[in-house]
Amino acid sequence: MIKEAILELKDLSHVYVNDAGAALAVDHINLVVHKGEFISLVGPSGCGKTTILNIIAGLIQPTHGELRVMGEKINSPTPKLGYMQQQDYLFPWLSIQKNAMLGLHIRNQRSKLQAERTNQLLLELGLEDTSHKYPHQLSGGMRQRVALARTLITDPEILLLDEPFSALDLHIKMQLEELVQSTLDRMGKTAVLVTHDLAEAVAISDRIIVLGRNPGHIRKIVTIPRDLRSVGPIEARKHPKYQSYFEEIWNELEEEMERGGNE
Ligand code: ADP
Ligand code: MG
Repeated sequence: MIKEAILELKDLSHVYVNDAGAALAVDHINLVVHKGEFISLVGPSGCGKTTILNIIAGLIQPTHGELRVMGEKINSPTPKLGYMQQQDYLFPWLSIQKNAMLGLHIRNQRSKLQAERTNQLLLELGLEDTSHKYPHQLSGGMRQRVALARTLITDPEILLLDEPFSALDLHIKMQLEELVQSTLDRMGKTAVLVTHDLAEAVAISDRIIVLGRNPGHIRKIVTIPRDLRSVGPIEARKHPKYQSYFEEIWNELEEEMERGGNE
């Protein structure tokens, strides 16, 4: 099977410049992501995970290097990418349906047909009878699913997810991981997930990018074997191969923490 490169990060570096001076946030990031892959970025706080997602999303321009999405050089936001940011709040005064349709609204694509598509997607994400409700009437897990629907409804090829499950209880978190992975697999989408939860990274991903800091760089790329990846995030945690991958990444991060000092 020929793997199609959907996302290419070529020697990306980024320097933030502000009143305090210039700081190199990420340095020489090289990564090729293939269509349908589920990639996780893990690493200590401040190692540049959000910076990398912002660069991929076209929200910030890398100081050096090149980004290609489906072979095309990108330097501004494109509809091929959907971004669920770290704090992706819903608007309290808009109904769930209107919140989910925000991306369509921004692109002037609101129509009766799109409203029906939105309701169908909410249904598929387990949000029946919520279209006309408001965010405060939903649980945290349900609100995250609405944010996911908002990202999916514009039909991006690649989803960027910055810690979407981090504020949720373990049980809800695992159900959502399951839902996200199966939905994206079914739709043939590619995902780049940022998470600080190593268990989640091992359970959900095809490949895990372990980052180090000062400045942010790729320390190691760990490939999860097909049999572990294919069982779904809840079952994966009980798989005989799971523990050794968890430990490999854990040890890598331990070494990084020792190298970088305690923070
Ligand atoms: P992570 O998401 O891994 O926690 P970030 O990408 O947010 O890391 O940050 C990487 C580094 O860049 C950190 O040292 C952070 O302080 C710095 N940084 C992030 N955003 C800015 C900004 N807008 N201006 C200046 N420095 C920033
Ligand atoms: Mg971050």
